[in-house]
Amino acid sequence: MSTFPHSATARARESIRHEGARRRHLTVLERTGLTDTLVRFTFGGDLDGFASLGPADHVKAFFPGPDGFVARDYTPAEFRPIGASSGPELDIDVVVHGDAGPATAWASRAGRGDALEIAGPRGSRLAPSGFGNVLLIADPSGMPALRRWIRAFAGVTPVHAVLFGSDAGLVGYLDDVEALTATPQPALTGEFDLLDVVRSQDVTADTFVFAAGEAGALIPVRRWLKQEAGIPKENLSLHGYWKQGVEGLDHHAPLDPADPD
Ligand SMILES: Cc1cc2nc3c(=O)[nH]c(=O)nc-3n(C[C@H](O)[C@H](O)[C@H](O)COP(=O)(O)OP(=O)(O)OC[C@H]3O[C@@H](n4cnc5c(N)ncnc54)[C@H](O)[C@@H]3O)c2cc1C
Repeated sequence: MSTFPHSATARARESIRHEGARRRHLTVLERTGLTDTLVRFTFGGDLDGFASLGPADHVKAFFPGPDGFVARDYTPAEFRPIGASSGPELDIDVVVHGDAGPATAWASRAGRGDALEIAGPRGSRLAPSGFGNVLLIADPSGMPALRRWIRAFAGVTPVHAVLFGSDAGLVGYLDDVEALTATPQPALTGEFDLLDVVRSQDVTADTFVFAAGEAGALIPVRRWLKQEAGIPKENLSLHGYWKQGVEGLDHHAPLDPADPD
């Protein structure tokens, strides 16, 4: 028997399939530094029919690697059917984390006129409704999704955000959405325990949680939310977007191998 005030139906997340997960040839129109680690690439080109309706949607982007092209996942930060260039524009915000990795190597050098192929999103899952509040947790790689979640819940459900990772400028990334419902809780690497910060948040069984970032850091958070805070797994959407020391992490693998459920 449900112990929660809202029905499962009210909270169901609608899924929408998109036609045409074909490869699209894009060109960088503009490169903009956003924070210490995040760089925005504004793309133009073959964006006819592009759709991204879910806050945690992702595209596959294809980067040159040592043995050919390799795919990495990125969040469509913002799509404008008609942008300043008078054509469709797609923003993708990329963490530049050095040279070790095809995506970061490309992003550290790319600029106006450079090409990139993407495919997807193949589908979108819309934000759920009916929750009492929302907790969002992200490191720089999860910030584009977090920003989209804030917008999806704006004016509907109170949102709190915990930002982690070694980028002191992350709060500024939310400048244009902060006024809506977010209360960023900056927490910088090295001097904090992510779990302690999450434990200090006001979470109840009526909270929806989205988290995205380094997989190892999120495992204790998931265990606490599930086992100690008593949040049902249906209310948890926690994703390892990358993992320390792992190339091209498969994000479909369970975040916590000891608790794949
Ligand atoms: C659904 C989804 C959406 C995502 N959206 C975004 C997004 O919008 N923006 C974004 O920047 N990333 C995003 N990511 C994360 C991105 O796909 C990974 O960080 C990816 O591994 C980067 O590829 P790479 O070629 O640079 O490094 P890889 O070849 O995968 O890894 C090389 C080395 O770099 C390390 N590494 C990988 N990523 C990071 C990082 N972020 N910080 C520090 N070290 C890292 C690895 O541990 C490894 O040691 C998303 C991931 C998923 C699953």
